[in-house]
Amino acid sequence: MPSSGETPRVWEAYAIRYAHHHRMARENFIGGDIHDGPMPMDYFVWAVRSGELVYVVDTGFDEAIAKKRGRKHLHCPGEGLRKIGIEPSQVQNVIVSHMHYDHSGNHELFPVATYHVQDREMQFCTGRYMTHAAMRLPFDAEDVCAMVKKLYGGRVVFHDGDAEMAPGLSVHFVGGHSMGLQMVRVWTRRGWVVLASDAAHYYANMDLGLAYPFTFNVGDTLEGYRRARELADSNDHIIPGHDPEVLKRYPSAGAGLEEWVARLD
Ligand SMILES: [Zn+2]
Repeated sequence: MPSSGETPRVWEAYAIRYAHHHRMARENFIGGDIHDGPMPMDYFVWAVRSGELVYVVDTGFDEAIAKKRGRKHLHCPGEGLRKIGIEPSQVQNVIVSHMHYDHSGNHELFPVATYHVQDREMQFCTGRYMTHAAMRLPFDAEDVCAMVKKLYGGRVVFHDGDAEMAPGLSVHFVGGHSMGLQMVRVWTRRGWVVLASDAAHYYANMDLGLAYPFTFNVGDTLEGYRRARELADSNDHIIPGHDPEVLKRYPSAGAGLEEWVARLD
């Protein structure tokens, strides 16, 4: 049962796929004896809802960024949200797991939302590590500037570590893949679900104990797998950030949403 705070709410949870990338398995692991072969990557945003309360997790990227980065854009994340009755222009809260380009684009999609980020993530993407081209690679300056503008518009809340967002909904600092990466834990009708985002790119990263190649700190990434397992009711309650398996393991959220929106709760 939920352990802290007021009476828990039961939340619905959704994964919304918006883009795709063909790649090989060797591109997805550090170390290990990987049997190489195609291992494509999906791109998601997530949403949780309890009555009138809605939190969107991450904002994805748009068509122009997909073109620039050689990814296949499938749908605007906002289109997927509308399919499950969430109007982006009305969304009040967006949790940003980390500031990488595939998680923090589409700057105008949520015009009234407050954005929740970790202190360390904003320090990271605006600080000395960004003097290294290799560290900047997964960031886009426009995303960072857009977040700074939101900050000066009074629309950013910083978190330092773990924080309860609402009864049955919390963020948890992980670091690892990015210095200030956070994941989301949510109480659902099937128990505690962890939206790991890039705390685990694929189920296989966790199962093999092998980090994804772009990683700020490998040790913290591996600790993050352990933390996700502690916070979730089982391994089947952990939702990785980029695994096409998610849409195979979980039912679609409705007719016509197959391969697009999955119901995670
Ligand atoms: Zn990512």
